[in-house]
Amino acid sequence: TDFGYEKVAVDEKAARVADVFHSVAARYDVMNDLMSFGIHRLWKQLALERSGVRQGHSVLDIAGGTGDLTRQFAKRVGPKGRVILADINESMLRVGRDKLIDHGVGDNVKYVQANAESLPFPDNSFHCITIAFGLRNVTDKDAALRSMTRVLKPGGRLLVLEFSKPVNGLLSKAYDQYSFRLLPQMGRLVANDADSYRYLAESIRMHPDQETLKTMMQAAGLERVEYTNMTGGIVALHRGIKL
Ligand code: SAM
Repeated sequence: TDFGYEKVAVDEKAARVADVFHSVAARYDVMNDLMSFGIHRLWKQLALERSGVRQGHSVLDIAGGTGDLTRQFAKRVGPKGRVILADINESMLRVGRDKLIDHGVGDNVKYVQANAESLPFPDNSFHCITIAFGLRNVTDKDAALRSMTRVLKPGGRLLVLEFSKPVNGLLSKAYDQYSFRLLPQMGRLVANDADSYRYLAESIRMHPDQETLKTMMQAAGLERVEYTNMTGGIVALHRGIKL
């Protein structure tokens, strides 16, 4: 049946994503710096600035991986706030937890293995939710957007930081060369893993562009949805509010 086929395809994608992140977990941070020339730090900085997170807030960093954003949020919310670092992948979560503990992050951070599509939290739980470079890996993105909206508090913000569509044709061509040629080579040299980085390039190419993602966020029930392009639209930061 159609359903049977669909189910297999979906499970295959999920399994593939799991394999990729189990195999890159240990070298994830190094590769991130290398492949983005360190610029991912600036992209994340903008997400922090737009988050509106303050002392005492509760924050969910879903698909949080090795915890770059969680670490900054932990400082912002202070001892009375709380941050949950959640990820579907045990290896990424373990690397993230070990790293944050090494950095002296305290007990205002909790670690939860969870799927963005069906978050295990009560309605109206968080002032802010971030998903950074995570949504494109999620099989059912609409379900994930609905689930995140459900667990946001009224007035809470969802920030989606993700690769998007370069706004200029020339940049777009250069970027394609970079991601389909150079990136797998780097993956092979540095991590002995060209396949994972080829997957990365493919997942970026398939991801909805700026306007499509905006529409998807609105369909999930978010309001005042807007986005900011960074690095010529290679990355976009979308923000929506639950009213
Ligand atoms: N947010 C981190 C950052 O910006 O450095 C990590 C991003 S990493 C590229 C993507 C993460 O998404 C991986 O850790 C992966 O395990 C996680 N992920 C993939 N599918 C997911 C899902 N359905 N639910 C939750 N996390 C997921």
